[in-house]
Amino acid sequence: MAVTEEHVLKALAPCGLSCEKCFAYNEGIIAKHARALRERLGNFDVYAQRFTKLGLTQFENWKAFKELLEYLASGDCLGCRQGTCKWPNCGVVECYKTKKMRFCFECPEFPCKKTNFDPHLEARWIAMNERMKEIGPVAYYEETRDQPRYR
Ligand code: SF4
Ligand code: SF4
Repeated sequence: MAVTEEHVLKALAPCGLSCEKCFAYNEGIIAKHARALRERLGNFDVYAQRFTKLGLTQFENWKAFKELLEYLASGDCLGCRQGTCKWPNCGVVECYKTKKMRFCFECPEFPCKKTNFDPHLEARWIAMNERMKEIGPVAYYEETRDQPRYR
């Protein structure tokens, strides 16, 4: 099925990062897999103890792993354009509240100094937006669909 611009605007934040693949996204693949894994592991506390006693030392880390799994499973963000982003200092989120731009590359100020991104993310932000400008957001979405969000 062809990807629509409506879908792309839901899947990608105005900065170009994928909300759809973000660990915090409610309907995202990471949260869905975390919930499925939690369900499949069932009452694993008892088994983690047993396996540890049997000498499988990796299971000594079960409690920390379980806490992280719970956290990933609890993703409840509805996406950047819905105003529920988890990053309080993101300058793009703040900018979107007033400008309502589709993507940063369409803004006359791009690349601005308002993002508060660290150098790694800033470089990605510029590259993502330059590519979107070149081929358009829908083609960019399709081109990057199978790539990990965290690069
Ligand atoms: S809005 Fe922010 S926290 Fe929410 S899914 Fe998008 S990138 Fe993740
Ligand atoms: S001012 Fe910066 S953050 Fe805001 S839309 Fe333009 S490029 Fe994006």
